[in-house]
Amino acid sequence: IRPTTHWETSVGARAFSGFQDCFFRDRPMDPVRIAVVGAGVVGLSTAVCISKSVPRCSITVISDKFTPETTSDVAAGMLIPHVYPDTPIPTLKRWFRETFDHLFAIASSADAEDAGVHLVSGWQVFRSIPTEEVPFWADVVLGFRKMTEAELKKFPQHVFGHAFTTLKCESPAYLPWLEKRLKRNGVLILTRRIADLWELHPSFDIVVNCSGLGSRQLARDSEMFPVRGQLLTVKAPWVKHFIRDGSGLTYIYPGTSDVILGGTRQEGDWDLSPDAEISRDIFSRCCALEPSLHGASYVREKVGLRPFRPAGVRLQVELLAQDSQKLPVVHNYGHGSGGISVHWGTALEAARLVSECVQAPRTPTPKSNL
Ligand SMILES: Cc1cc2nc3c(=O)[nH]c(=O)nc-3n(C[C@H](O)[C@H](O)[C@H](O)COP(=O)(O)OP(=O)(O)OC[C@H]3O[C@@H](n4cnc5c(N)ncnc54)[C@H](O)[C@@H]3O)c2cc1C
Repeated sequence: IRPTTHWETSVGARAFSGFQDCFFRDRPMDPVRIAVVGAGVVGLSTAVCISKSVPRCSITVISDKFTPETTSDVAAGMLIPHVYPDTPIPTLKRWFRETFDHLFAIASSADAEDAGVHLVSGWQVFRSIPTEEVPFWADVVLGFRKMTEAELKKFPQHVFGHAFTTLKCESPAYLPWLEKRLKRNGVLILTRRIADLWELHPSFDIVVNCSGLGSRQLARDSEMFPVRGQLLTVKAPWVKHFIRDGSGLTYIYPGTSDVILGGTRQEGDWDLSPDAEISRDIFSRCCALEPSLHGASYVREKVGLRPFRPAGVRLQVELLAQDSQKLPVVHNYGHGSGGISVHWGTALEAARLVSECVQAPRTPTPKSNL
């Protein structure tokens, strides 16, 4: 890899010399060189967690797209987790709790506005009583309870509901905020498309793959596919409570300046251009839940491709090898519909896997007693 393509760094010349240095590591005590591929919410948060927990390392985030052009930028950003078939519920709950606690601390600080993180209260309503009346995440969000008869009167088509307070994490503010933290910590940021993870050998000692849907190619994971999502942002400043249909398909999420109306889940659809017919359908479904939205002024349409993997998130070390050369890769991708909700938890786990990779070759080989 050569720094010939576009690159940007936090601190100009000083960072550039650091960048040069990281390509010429031949002394064993030199910092471990870690490349994080991907600059969505998963890549940036993973880089932050590595920079906080792995001592004596140099980190470079490499990505072909950055905010505001990632899928993460399109996300509605609500903290409500989605189940991943291969992830045991206690693990998923831990990821969600760690993410909730991390963002709750930000929402309770003076950084909240810059980071685009805030508390939001509202209702999740059901047309029939769900099999799980109390979801596994009920004691992670705040003030979870069943909706009262008086609240349900607002939704004549619905018979049951949850009321709770959760967090909304607005990626167009949160991603630049994470990038700023990385740059402050001396992390290098490089704009580049990677065709094969092996390209990063021998310039880096460890690669962390957070390329989302890009893992279809980079991890040769043919199971990965897009689930297209379209949403609208409108001006409706009187809407302060979120409303979500129990199916998760129709939602109204008030944010700092706009209200997000959604949505769609279109499996295998790669089309990134908005579809006017779908926008009309989203608007009419949302108006059925909150008729006052007829008075909203329209702002714009957004489309994103959720990085979907049938088994769910892949958090795993893979050792790539060619001839006698080896390159440990820590995978952290496949967050599908719920990446914002669990990003910090999975980033902490990926950072632990990176620590294990760093320690592995340094553990002295036990001496033989013979
Ligand atoms: C409409 C919509 C609404 C959503 N709402 C929510 C919500 O309310 N709550 C929630 O929790 N989740 C939500 N999600 C899901 C969430 O957006 C994703 O789970 C999350 O953004 C995935 O993050 P990521 O970092 O893995 O992927 P991405 O944001 O796609 O980032 C992948 C990164 O890898 C880079 N990359 C890929 N291939 C390469 C390559 N070959 N070389 C270099 N770089 C590469 C990309 O440029 C990008 O920077 C929503 C998604 C959509 C589309």
